[in-house]
Amino acid sequence: MPPLISFEEALALGELEGHEEIGELVERAWAVRTDRFGDSTDMCSLVNAKSGGCAEDCGFCAQSRYAEADTPMHAMMEPEQILQHAKAAEAAGAHRFCMVTQGQGLSKRDFSKIVEGARLVSEQTNLKRCASIGHMSVDRAKKLKQAGIQRVHHNVETSESYYPEVSTTVRYEGRIRTIDAVREAGLESCVGGILNLGESPLQRVEMAFELSEIDPDSVPINLLNPRSGTKFGDRELMDPWEVVKWVAIFRLILPDALFRLCGGRVENLGELQPLAVKAGLNGVMMGNFLTTLGVEPAEDRAMFEELGLNVARQPDNGANPRPDNRSGWMQGETPETPIDELIDSQADANFWDPSTQLKVIKKKGEVPAYPSERKEPAGWGD
Ligand code: SF4
Repeated sequence: MPPLISFEEALALGELEGHEEIGELVERAWAVRTDRFGDSTDMCSLVNAKSGGCAEDCGFCAQSRYAEADTPMHAMMEPEQILQHAKAAEAAGAHRFCMVTQGQGLSKRDFSKIVEGARLVSEQTNLKRCASIGHMSVDRAKKLKQAGIQRVHHNVETSESYYPEVSTTVRYEGRIRTIDAVREAGLESCVGGILNLGESPLQRVEMAFELSEIDPDSVPINLLNPRSGTKFGDRELMDPWEVVKWVAIFRLILPDALFRLCGGRVENLGELQPLAVKAGLNGVMMGNFLTTLGVEPAEDRAMFEELGLNVARQPDNGANPRPDNRSGWMQGETPETPIDELIDSQADANFWDPSTQLKVIKKKGEVPAYPSERKEPAGWGD
């Protein structure tokens, strides 16, 4: 469905400052959300299956080798470890689970671990399965699909006009190619970005309309959590009312997308998280993020339930129904699994936790200057 507001209207809404006016905008976005998705929700979780030491220069990312920031550093997890994290995410009440790795793409060996991890998660949990593994060919996307992956995440990060400020070594066109490959393989797409990287309100609106053109099934929006030592590490957090306003604007531009807030929502929104949900979210990233801590899953579930939304696992979380791996799923019954007993008992489950599970290693040696800050132009893969 096309945007419900024009580009000019979005720009005008972006200028709202009064809380009362923003409150009215929230009501409008809430009506759009409930009209299309009823009380359903789509709650994600992730594991950072390969972390740190990335060769790319994305200015928001602590995993970049150009960032003088601490980050979990570990090689590709074994498929069994991925499965263990998935089971913990299921126990926490997540609907879907994303296997995430750093970098532009995976080696053959690492890719085969993701494929095997996806197969195990498909066979042994009721979670919907996503992957975020950088660029990929149609052939790789098809392999992921065969292994049970249903959706691939690949952000555009920001508007095309602002993108050169965000990354010089990962190309915008490459991102679009990957999104096309994912679709050609018959997978769902999850495409979003990060707000507050220094983009103007105009560029924020551009990003939302560009996403509308891409028309992904799911749109994850992150809010910059400025990490000291990264290119954008000195930026201020967003005003929480600003966040709420932009969530509502994005919802009106992307009425049919499964829209979620991910990294930075705790730091930027504080007490206003429930209002942001009301501004049109289908879900949030539960648990922890790639390199930072999130919220207790029980708190997130309660936040959605207080608005009358249903966080129970559903046969169709607001997206198109699709066959799943367990009999009974599509008949509307959520089959019991052994992990159901573990709900809220995370002490028994190995939930992804960047602060304690893996060694956080301070980067050693000299951290190179960001290519965008060097005098000479940076080349591909520099
Ligand atoms: S490619 Fe991914 S992991 Fe690497 S710097 Fe960019 S966002 Fe971070």
